[in-house]
Amino acid sequence: MSAGARPLGPVPAGFGAIDGELAIAGLRASELVARAGNTPLFVYSAALIRARVTELRQALPARVALHYAVKANPFAPLLALLAELVDGFDIASGGELALALAAGIAPGRISFAGPGKRDDELAAALAAGVTINLESEGEAARALAIAASLGLRARLAIRVNPDFDLKGSGMKMGGGAKPFGVDAALVPALARHIVAQGAEWRGFHIFAGSQSLDAEAIITAQRETLALAMRLAAEAGVALVHCNLGGGFGIPYFAGDQRLDLPRIGAALDAGLPALPARFADTGFCVELGRYLVGEAGVYLTRIVDRKHSHGETFLVCDGGLHHQLAASGNFGTVVRRNYPLANASRFAAPAEEIATVVGCLCTPMDRLAERAHLPQSAVGDLVALFCAGAYGASASPAAFLGHSPAAEMLV
Ligand SMILES: *Cc1c(COP(=O)(O)O)cnc(C)c1O
Repeated sequence: MSAGARPLGPVPAGFGAIDGELAIAGLRASELVARAGNTPLFVYSAALIRARVTELRQALPARVALHYAVKANPFAPLLALLAELVDGFDIASGGELALALAAGIAPGRISFAGPGKRDDELAAALAAGVTINLESEGEAARALAIAASLGLRARLAIRVNPDFDLKGSGMKMGGGAKPFGVDAALVPALARHIVAQGAEWRGFHIFAGSQSLDAEAIITAQRETLALAMRLAAEAGVALVHCNLGGGFGIPYFAGDQRLDLPRIGAALDAGLPALPARFADTGFCVELGRYLVGEAGVYLTRIVDRKHSHGETFLVCDGGLHHQLAASGNFGTVVRRNYPLANASRFAAPAEEIATVVGCLCTPMDRLAERAHLPQSAVGDLVALFCAGAYGASASPAAFLGHSPAAEMLV
């Protein structure tokens, strides 16, 4: 790397080059753009998603079901693919419920978490037979009343706000005062109440954090999660029918990030679950993963429309930007802006020769896709690939900002 360059994140495994050009699932970037009709676009590799699921199935005990958190990427063809590959789906809105049902996912495989569920969302979920992960006592009361008015038996689980969080996680979602879940101390009484009201009791959902690359921290959080779930079930005097162990499996976005040691997590579960007391022999377990399943399988392709110099710096100006891929600009859940993995897709096999800052087309200084990246000599018309774009991309970015068109998406 030349002096002054900032490192780029690691390009995920599984991408190749054909005649020097980036290839995704054996198709050249330029061919994918031709199929879409234009840039920018998101391309998701079905083969990479399948490979990731296989890797997870091999590492985790068969007793631990695999759930997909739809908020990571709700693209319909991708949901349809995952419907064949994973066991359960976690949704967080009525809109995601509609998408999951439209993808042909059986309601019995769906659970609905998330704060601020409206009455109409609860009614739709209850009518479909989806499990509601209750976020508060008030929500429990509304869900029970809506179920009664519809003449249905609600399937209810409690999302617990644990007294711990996932160490080193990018986004903490447990520990202390939180809008998510019911404080552990209040859970036993609520569980008893739900059961007494005749609801179908579905257990606990405990999610302690996101984007951790530290297997030991995840193992510790899972151990604490299990212990908490067992204690709360015992205090409530209810069976632990199901325990969602959360997720938090991270992917490497930045230079220096080490891959998560998945086999180590699997080995700890393999050792821990059979050692549980006999009364938990029938408890179902799952992990719920978003970015780990789909993040590295996605690439955002955008075209360089201008090349300019300002005060000694080279800028490559693209037709995409943070309105499609907010996370890469450093404005989605990161404190310090660091470079995502990025490459000149048209010259994927060429050596790096220049330092350039890659920016998007939005009229805001926030729209930076890579800062002082060491790249091959790049020209107007070249395609730029931003990797790790399979999760929290298209659906997590302000697509309407500045009136640009949404990006195309395709699963190949
Ligand atoms: C966001 C979220 C997930 C997915 O997180 P990833 O970091 O993408 O794996 C899973 N469960 C819950 C409750 C979430 O809010």
